[in-house]
Amino acid sequence: AKAAGRHRYAMFSAELNRVAQDRLKFETALRNALASDELQLHYQPQVCLSDGSLHGVEALARWRHPEFGVVPPDRFIPLAEEGGFITELDHWVLRRACRQLAEWRAQWSRDAGADPAAASAAIPHVSVNVSPTSFCDRRLPGLISRTLTAWGLAPGDLVLEVTESVLLDAASGGLATLGEVHRLGVGLSIDDFGTGYSSLSYLHRLPVSELKLDKSFVRELESDEGARALACAVMGIGASLSLDVVAEGVETDAQRTILLAQGCEVAQGYFFARPMPAAELTAWLRSRLAQ
Ligand code: C2E
Ligand code: CA
Ligand code: CA
Ligand code: CA
Repeated sequence: AKAAGRHRYAMFSAELNRVAQDRLKFETALRNALASDELQLHYQPQVCLSDGSLHGVEALARWRHPEFGVVPPDRFIPLAEEGGFITELDHWVLRRACRQLAEWRAQWSRDAGADPAAASAAIPHVSVNVSPTSFCDRRLPGLISRTLTAWGLAPGDLVLEVTESVLLDAASGGLATLGEVHRLGVGLSIDDFGTGYSSLSYLHRLPVSELKLDKSFVRELESDEGARALACAVMGIGASLSLDVVAEGVETDAQRTILLAQGCEVAQGYFFARPMPAAELTAWLRSRLAQ
C-alpha cells in the first residue's frame, strides 16, 4: 500500500509539474480548491512548557485533492507563489482561521457555560503564515482589520508568521505593512528564526513579538552542541528583548527537557500534538482540560 501511495504521489508530482507549467490551469485548480473546500486548515497547538497550558494554535493549509489525496503545503505554496495566487490563498487562510477561532470561543462559552474571558483564555490566539508576497501587498492591513471586526476578535487574537526576509528588504514594501499591522495591534512572529542570512539589528527596531526557533535546530538539540548553543542564544535574545520564543518541531521528551532547561517557554511539535482538523483540536482541548 505504501509503494502504491508513493507511485500515486510520483504520478501526482509529475502531474503537478505539468500543471505548474500551465499557469491558467493551475489557477483554475486552486480557485476550485478554494471554492470547493478542497483546501482546509489544520491547527497545531503551541504549548506552554511550564504548566502545559495552550499558548496558541498555528493554522496550516492542507489541500485534499479528490483524486490525488493530501498535497503538502511545501508543494502547493511555491506553486501558488509562481502562479500569482498566493495572496488569494493567504487571504482565504486568514479569514478561515479567524472564523474558526471565533467559532471555538462561541462553542466554548456555550458548552462550558464559561464567560467570554474564559473562552478566550482557552485558545489565546491563532497564528497564520503569511508569505512575503502577501505581506508586502498593501491590501493586507485592511483585510485583517475587516476580518477581526467581522468575527468580533481583538487584534491580540491574531499572530502573523513571516520569514525575516520581508523585514530585511526595505524595498519590498514589507516595512509599510509592518507599521500598519503594528498599529492594528496584531502580533508578529519571525518564522524559521535562525535560518537564512539574517541581521539581528532589525529585531529591536521593528515591532516583532515572537521568534520561532526553526525545527532544524530542535532536531539536532541532542546530537549537536552547536545547535544547543544556537537555541540557547535565541532564548537569550527572546528574554532580553521580551519576545516570546516558540520552539517548533519538538518531537521527543529529551528535546522538551533541553529546551525547558534553556528557559524556553513555548513549544510546538509532534511530541505534543500533530496539526489536526478543527473538530479534533476541540476534542484535544476538552480532554486536556478534563484531566
Ligand atoms: P512552517 O510554517 O515552518 O510550519 C511548520 C511545519 O512543521 C508544518 O509543516 C508542520 O506540520 C510541521 N511540523 C509540526 N510539528 C512538527 C514536528 O514535530 N516535526 C516535524 N518534522 N515537523 C513538524 P506543513 O504543515 O507541511 O507546512 C510546511 C510549510 O508550508 C510551513 O512551514 C509554511 O511555511 C507553509 N505553509 C503552511 N500553511 C501555509 C499557509 O496557509 N500560508 C502560507 N503562506 N504558507 C503556509
Ligand atoms: Ca509557521
Ligand atoms: Ca517554521
Ligand atoms: Ca518553513
